[in-house]
Amino acid sequence: MTMPSMPQAGTTLSGNKALQIEEPLIFEQDASGRTAVDLPAVPEHQERLGGLKRKQAVGLPGLSEPQVVRHYTKLSQKNFAIDMNVYPLGSCTMKHNPRLNEKVARLPGIADLHPLQPISTVQGALALIDRLAHWLKTLTNMPAVAMSPAAGAHGELCGIMTIRAALLAKGDARKRILVPESAHGTNPATAAACGYEVDPVPADERGRVDLAAFKAKLGPDVAGTMITNPNTCGLFENDIIDIADAIHAVGGYFYCDGANFNAIVGRVRPGDLGVDAMHINLHKTFSTPHGGGGPGAGPVVLSAALAPYAPLPYVTHGPNGFDLKEQDEGGTAFGRLKGFHGQMGMFTRALSYILSHGSDGLRQASGDAVLNANYILAGLKDTLTPAFPGTCMHEALFNDDFLQGTDVTTLDFAKAMIDEGYHPMTMYFPLVVHGALLMEPTETESKDGLDRYIEVVKGLAERAKAGNTAYFEGAPYHTPRRRLDETLAARQPILKWKPPVEKQAAE
Ligand SMILES: *Cc1c(COP(=O)(O)O)cnc(C)c1O
Repeated sequence: MTMPSMPQAGTTLSGNKALQIEEPLIFEQDASGRTAVDLPAVPEHQERLGGLKRKQAVGLPGLSEPQVVRHYTKLSQKNFAIDMNVYPLGSCTMKHNPRLNEKVARLPGIADLHPLQPISTVQGALALIDRLAHWLKTLTNMPAVAMSPAAGAHGELCGIMTIRAALLAKGDARKRILVPESAHGTNPATAAACGYEVDPVPADERGRVDLAAFKAKLGPDVAGTMITNPNTCGLFENDIIDIADAIHAVGGYFYCDGANFNAIVGRVRPGDLGVDAMHINLHKTFSTPHGGGGPGAGPVVLSAALAPYAPLPYVTHGPNGFDLKEQDEGGTAFGRLKGFHGQMGMFTRALSYILSHGSDGLRQASGDAVLNANYILAGLKDTLTPAFPGTCMHEALFNDDFLQGTDVTTLDFAKAMIDEGYHPMTMYFPLVVHGALLMEPTETESKDGLDRYIEVVKGLAERAKAGNTAYFEGAPYHTPRRRLDETLAARQPILKWKPPVEKQAAE
């Protein structure tokens, strides 16, 4: 008896793989004349568009309602999300967003506001911004906060523009900003965008700012420094007070990148460390949804010396309740950063997070974030190679020494993690560590979840060390697309669909 020929494992007639369904672009699904709605025929009417009448079809794809629903549902399923599994992307603080925050942000009195409503009708919203500002100032021990920046990088821009305004007001056009080599790329980019020369400061063998090298670079032309604390190696900058004193001694300002505030909130107040300006990523520390360039908010806390130069608008307490200061004629505000007052939805979520945690809850969250990162560090330190000795703050950093002699790269290792259902950790950052693997579990992962994650990463490392290089070079095996030319995709992205040539010709 001959067996019917069996399909090859892993291939399907449709190209789909169970729940992973292939999905063409919405324009490729266009069938002209198909619509999701029945519109009545246009009655007889007199044309009043003059010469402005469209000369050809608008070019929207024709799909039925179920097609549209399926299209977007399938696209949504191609995303990895914090709601699916451990998302250990270091530096990004991908933590659970409590649904309570979403509920509050969706209350009609908040979600349905319009930024151009009369001030008397938005007193509650202004009170909310004012209350959040109060807690941000309290948690950082800083006297002022600019609420409008839309993300961390935008907050850096706000902070450096504030510093520049303060220096210019003293007639002091300084040229240089000192930035550690381990800094997030947005730090040097911000300094350069504001016209400063970026002077890199090396890290010492402990992964911290080399204090002697830092001091050697100081001079009367230094406008300030941008330092992340805890830094991007997941380490607390122990010399932070000496750094602040040294920069102040030459008349410069201390910008602190506060994106890692999640590791210290409720325990350390940056105002006590000599910080002049610091952005807080609400979407990291205070758990609002983010990713893929999605919504963020980067309020910047400011010292008394910088507060007068903060951007407009800001909330004030007027005779009839809250008011917004929109103009500052002859004043010192450096200008405006944004069309309106900031990201209201993010403000709401962050305040909901802060109030529902309370001071004890926030303190516990930062403690648990550090505990979880150290749990990963301890669990993996004998299999992977930690970049620096000792404990870490909120993220565990490894180098690629453990892959030496295997031909497996950090990139190959990350691709294998995708097959295991994990978003890879941050790779090749910070740049001061060779082949860096940066893992940030955050406080919202359970011990069970971390144990499973550690087992998988350990298993992969052992597989790599056993010489199974080909396996890693071929990964990922279970994704809809495998290895892509990521450089080409980044350098020459094709962002616009063009109709196929035959179709163009027929039209
Ligand atoms: C995330 C991050 C930033 C930038 O914040 P965005 O909100 O993404 O613009 C800057 N510095 C550090 C250390 C970060 O982790």
